[in-house]
Amino acid sequence: MRTIDHLIVGQGGGGAGRTADVFDPNTGRVQASVTLGTAADLDRAVAAARGAQPGWAATNPQRRARVMFRFKELVEANMDELAHLLSSEHGKVIADAKGDIQRGLEVIEFCCGIPHVLKGEYTQGAGPGIDVYSMRQPLGIGAGITPFNFPAMIPLWMSGVAIATGNAFLLKPSERDPSVPVRLAELFLEAGLPQGILQVVHGDKEMVDAILDHAAIAAVSFVGSSDIAHYVYRRGVAAGKRVQAMGGAKNHGIVMPDADLDQVVADLSGAAFGSAGERCMALPVVVPVGDKTAEALREKLIPAIDALRVGVSTDAEAHYGPVVTAQHRQRIEQWIQTGVDEGAELVVDGRGFKLQGHEEGFFIGPSLFDRVTPAMSAYKEEIFGPVLQIVRAPDFETAVRLPSEHQYGNGVAIFTRNGHAAREFAARVNVGMVGINVPIPVPVAYHTFGGWKRSAFGDTNQHGMEGVKFWTKVKTVTQRWPDGAGAGSGGDLPRGS
Ligand code: NAD
Repeated sequence: MRTIDHLIVGQGGGGAGRTADVFDPNTGRVQASVTLGTAADLDRAVAAARGAQPGWAATNPQRRARVMFRFKELVEANMDELAHLLSSEHGKVIADAKGDIQRGLEVIEFCCGIPHVLKGEYTQGAGPGIDVYSMRQPLGIGAGITPFNFPAMIPLWMSGVAIATGNAFLLKPSERDPSVPVRLAELFLEAGLPQGILQVVHGDKEMVDAILDHAAIAAVSFVGSSDIAHYVYRRGVAAGKRVQAMGGAKNHGIVMPDADLDQVVADLSGAAFGSAGERCMALPVVVPVGDKTAEALREKLIPAIDALRVGVSTDAEAHYGPVVTAQHRQRIEQWIQTGVDEGAELVVDGRGFKLQGHEEGFFIGPSLFDRVTPAMSAYKEEIFGPVLQIVRAPDFETAVRLPSEHQYGNGVAIFTRNGHAAREFAARVNVGMVGINVPIPVPVAYHTFGGWKRSAFGDTNQHGMEGVKFWTKVKTVTQRWPDGAGAGSGGDLPRGS
C-alpha cells in the first residue's frame, strides 16, 4: 500500500501514528494511506520554515518570480501525470482535473509579476523636506488548510501568493486527495524554491488545531465547509492570527423570461452537474422568473439531464465521474430524500445509479427537483452533489431576494438579454461574485475570489491584489534628511540651498 507522507524538511518515512484511507472513487477501493500528523510534526515543519524564511524574504522579488516561472513550466510539462493522479483520488474527469490545475497555474502567472505588484507607494514632499513611502513585507510563516474539491487550484491560490511575497508556507491539504498537493510542492523544490519555504503537513482536526494554536504561524487561509470555516476563523483570530476562511455555497442562477433557454440548459448541464456538483461555484439552484419560463425550462432540462453520461473519471466521453467518498454519496442521497419529504417534486431521481463494471464505485446519477421553496432545509443547505433544484419566482424582485437572503453568498448568475435587468441585478444582489450570462463566475487570477455572508469569514479575498494584501503587512516610512545630517561623512556632497 502506498503511503502519502508529509513533506517536511528532514522528515524521515511515515511514523507509527494515525493514518487515513485514500480511496479510488472509481472502484471504491482504498488505494493509499495518508499520515495524519500531530503538533510535533508541525513543530518540525515550523522550525524548518523559521530557518528558511528570512533568507527567502531577503531574496529579491525578481528572483522569487523566476522560481514561479520555472514552476509553471514544470507543472505544464507534468500536466498529464498530475491530472491523472488528481482524477484518481478525487473522481473528477481528466478534463476537469486539468482545469483544476490550470486555474491554479493562472495564479502562479500572476505571481510571476510579483516585483511589479510589490512596489510600494511614495509621496515626495509630504511636508517640508519630508517624503513618505510604504513597503509590503511578508508576514513570516503562513499556513493554508484546503478542501478536497480543488486539490490543485486552491493550494496554488494560497501558496503561490504567500511564497511570492516572501513568506514560508505550510500546506495542510484535504486528507481525502492529498497526493497532488505533495507533487506540486515537490515541483516547487525542483523549480529552485529553497527547502523549508513550502512544506506539506497532512492531517485532520488535530493538525488543524495545532496550526491554529501555533504561536509562530502568523496567518491562516482556509477553504472548506462553513461551520469549519467559522470555527477556524474564530480560533485563529483568538490566537491573534490573520485569518481568511472561505465556506460553503448555494449559488442561484436567475433565468429571466427573455433568456436564451437553450444556452441556459447547456450552461446548467456543466454548472450544476459538472464535477458531480462538487464545486463551490456550482449552480445547484435555478430560478426561472414566471411560470411560463419555468415550464419551458423544465421541458428542456429533462432530456438534457437524461443525456448526461456518468462514467469513470478517465472516460473522455463522461460528463462527470464518481463523488469523492461513499459517505459523501450517502449524504447527497439523504438530502434528496429530505427534499422529497419536505414536499419538493423529484422530477429526475439519480439515486441507486450503478455503473456497469464499477458497481463499488461512488457514482450517483443526476437529480432534478421542481417546486422547491425557500422554507425547505434541502434548499437552505448545501448538498454538494449532482442535484439541481428549481425554485420558481413570480417576478424579478423575488428573484433578486432569493439569493440575497440565502445564508450563503458565494456566486450567483443571471441569464437575460436585458442589459438594464442585468445591471440592476448585479448592483443589488447580496452575493460576492456575479455572472451575467456566465454560469460559473469565477474571477480570473488577477482579480480576486471570495463570497459573502456564510461563504467567507474575514475580510480579504483569495489571490489578485487582495491575496497580496492578505499575505503581507504594510510598513510606512516618513523620512526627513535635514541639511548637514551627513556632516563629516561626505565633504563633497552638494550642500542644501
Ligand atoms: P471540509 O470543511 O470537510 O474540509 C476542509 C478542510 O478542513 C480539510 O483540510 C479538512 O481536513 C479540515 N477539517 C475537516 N474537519 C475539520 C474539523 N472538524 N476541524 C478542523 N478542520 C477540519 O470541506 P471539504 O468537504 O473538504 O470541501 C467541500 C466544502 O468546501 C464545501 O462546503 C464547499 O462549498 C467548500 N468550498 C468552498 C470554496 C470557497 O472558496 N468558498 C471553495 C471550494 C470548496
